[in-house]
Amino acid sequence: MKQLELVIQNQTGLHARPAKVLVNLAKQFQCDIRIQHKEKKANAKSMVSVLTLGATCGSMIVIEANGGDEELALAKLEEAILAGLGDSEPGAEPKAVEAIPVAAKTEEPAMDIPGLLKGIGASPGLAVGPLFVHRAHDWSKENLDDARIPLGEAIASAKAQLAELHERMAGKGLKAEAAIFEAHRELLEDPELLDEVQVRTGAGLSAGRAWLAVIDERAKLIAALNDAVLSARADDLRDVGHRVLRLLLGLPERKAVRPETPVVIAALEMSPSDTAAFDPARVLGFALVNGGPTSHIAILARAMGLPAIVSVNESMLALAEGTPVILDANAGALIPNPEPAVLARFEQARDAWVERRRLAQKQAELPAITRDGRKVDVSANAGSHKDATKAMQQKADGIGLLRTEFLFLDRATAPSEDEQFEVYRAIAETMQTRPVIVRTMDVGGDKPLAYIPMKPEDNPFLGERGIRLCLTHPELFREQLRAILRAASHGHLEIMFPMISDVTEIREAKAFVEEQRQLVNAPAVKVGIMVEVPSAALLADKLAQEVDFFSLGTNDLTQYTLAMDRGHAGLAAKQDGLHPAVLRLIAKTAEAAHQFGKRVDVCGELGSDPLAVPILIGLGVDELSVSIPAVPIVKAQVRALSLADVQPLARKALECSTAAEVRELVRRFNA
Ligand code: PEP
Ligand code: MG
Repeated sequence: MKQLELVIQNQTGLHARPAKVLVNLAKQFQCDIRIQHKEKKANAKSMVSVLTLGATCGSMIVIEANGGDEELALAKLEEAILAGLGDSEPGAEPKAVEAIPVAAKTEEPAMDIPGLLKGIGASPGLAVGPLFVHRAHDWSKENLDDARIPLGEAIASAKAQLAELHERMAGKGLKAEAAIFEAHRELLEDPELLDEVQVRTGAGLSAGRAWLAVIDERAKLIAALNDAVLSARADDLRDVGHRVLRLLLGLPERKAVRPETPVVIAALEMSPSDTAAFDPARVLGFALVNGGPTSHIAILARAMGLPAIVSVNESMLALAEGTPVILDANAGALIPNPEPAVLARFEQARDAWVERRRLAQKQAELPAITRDGRKVDVSANAGSHKDATKAMQQKADGIGLLRTEFLFLDRATAPSEDEQFEVYRAIAETMQTRPVIVRTMDVGGDKPLAYIPMKPEDNPFLGERGIRLCLTHPELFREQLRAILRAASHGHLEIMFPMISDVTEIREAKAFVEEQRQLVNAPAVKVGIMVEVPSAALLADKLAQEVDFFSLGTNDLTQYTLAMDRGHAGLAAKQDGLHPAVLRLIAKTAEAAHQFGKRVDVCGELGSDPLAVPILIGLGVDELSVSIPAVPIVKAQVRALSLADVQPLARKALECSTAAEVRELVRRFNA
């Protein structure tokens, strides 16, 4: 028997697709292969078994091979795992920096419309049409003992259907969707799943009952994993399990929906099979009770270019079939039975929205200066050289946040100083004289690195991440600083440290910069910090004396202030950077920065939220660094504001009790 210890490299861990790559590879060998993760052990040839390991990015696993070809099997598995199990093409953009659409909290319509149901935008856009309520099948009403064909035949037919669905999606160029059905087919070849069903039928259970019980148990196991992406795969298993059951019991295939007119689909949740059962030409959009930003429906809706909202109140499902609705995914709202006046207003709003974007794009070159003369820099958040090119196309004033993680994640060894230098230099040159704020690697904890052994942490967001990791791994830190400092003479680079929580950290980090600057004989560069930990905001007056600028990381600042995991789908609606507690920390930071003559930027998602822009400017923010496509529209919005109006507005916001009150305040201000 041979063993191998490895770290999972791909960002989303062993979820459906990478697990499939691993399982398929394992199946090519005769030897028995087991994977151990923490206390769980899985058969490497069983997809479900591998999924239930709950191995996420950075997880340490032990592979055990036992049999004639064990050596070759381990070598091939090691190679595949280190290469990311097909999860990311070499040079692909890292998924972690992909912006989640912020449309949810942006274009708020008048929320006092009777019957309006609030949700969270999962895919932007607007639609009007009749509602179609999609209901999941109630299996408790079926006679599970009444199998029409043998289970093996039902599984074979399901596989054939899935292969056809895969072809259909691939034929339409929907690669991600095609891959989902391919993964479903793999689930049906799972030896452990089939063995378990056989054990139960052998003990006297009918095929239908045994199948449903095993599927449900395994799905629950996967759903219970402490990982949003992996636990979403439980839906995959249920979906494919129900497909087989339908065939086994001779139930009709779910009918394709062919309404006379296109519909807005309302549902508790939607599986990939549910979605595929609809004729896309007859779908205007989706409104779901469950689901989050990483759910299948969000991915599918975005790929189909259809608006979608999630987290809508369940009362939506009681609406009558055919109820005329407005789906406003930009605002995260569904309006049933709109009055003709509301409908007309909505259509106007939609046209205005389209027009506003067109105009903003046309005027993107103009600076963002308020009506009373205050210049606000509107720069872009970037995560690669390609982003820098796009930021220039959108006329960004600079890069307010360069997330350098893309250089460090998803690889087996650290990038060399020269490799980093080349990337920073290319970005500096692309941005010409425009400033680029290079954030030193914000990794560790929630974004572990294969080449830095770290003990598992119970709370990675509260663990050794950001500057904490840099300071405990000085060689890696020094190398990055040298690369940035050497590239600085090719453009305008500034350095920023993430996760600073007190003065000692910034002093230590600055000492590293100075030491390396002298070593490479580089000119001095500006040094700033992210203010994203509440302690940094509360001590902003002390920190301001140590730095050239602050940049408010409102994503983390909101997470830490409200004690809400930023990736928690169930808390998404409450995760609001316009919470007065967060605003008070922003106000304190801005005040301290200006007291010491320092600049204060915002680089969290809040900066692209149109309802937040007036408040942030009113609180004295000097620069907004936003997602690249938002640059022109934010610039246009700043040009329409005046300091004389937004300063008192911001003061009022600080006196609000809830984020909803703040949003209402700004909505009234805009009206
Ligand atoms: C933030 O926390 O607001 C931020 C911009 O950093 P990141 O999203 O990369 O953590
Ligand atoms: Mg952050």
